[in-house]
Amino acid sequence: MNSIGILSIQGDVSEHVMAVKKAIRTLGMKGSIIEVKKTIPDLLDALIIPGGESTTIGNFLWKTGMDIEIKKLAKDIPILGTCAGAIILAKEGDEQVKRTHLLGLMSMKINRNAFGRQKESFEANLGIPEIGTDPFHGVFIRAPIIEKIWGDTKVLARHDGKIVAVRENNLMALSFHPELVRDTRIHEYFLRLI
Ligand code: GLN
Repeated sequence: MNSIGILSIQGDVSEHVMAVKKAIRTLGMKGSIIEVKKTIPDLLDALIIPGGESTTIGNFLWKTGMDIEIKKLAKDIPILGTCAGAIILAKEGDEQVKRTHLLGLMSMKINRNAFGRQKESFEANLGIPEIGTDPFHGVFIRAPIIEKIWGDTKVLARHDGKIVAVRENNLMALSFHPELVRDTRIHEYFLRLI
């Protein structure tokens, strides 16, 4: 039985729960979901950090000491960060991101709100060869852009030439919100990393 943790401070927690449930069923996997609130449970097999407000999430993790726990976990288990969660995973970022408590786990520079403000939020079809040939419908809400990557980080998807999805071994970061569409191929891909 695999335990999949979803950080439940803010953001699309219930949508991620539903997407993970569906992905578990599709994969025929045995799994349970844990909503992670104040402490990191001992036996986690994967962790999702949803979107929200990166400064708030970063502060919360730092104040509770969960940042230290997550950094330890990152050596062993897959971690997926979506939107604000992706920002938190980064080693570097723009001026706003520099003032945020980052986990600093992924070799990438990420820029907050880089596609524009709330009203510039948009949806776009993305080619993500790792999950198959059909396009994936990406929902971008005040989304960040991954400006550059280095080390072992690999591009999974671009939009208009800009990097919007990456993987560095067991770690994944997405600018968009895969939990807001019915297509669970990204969650399945992530769970297969366990
Ligand atoms: N703009 C938010 C931030 O930078 C992220 C938005 C989101 O997670 N949908 O914190």
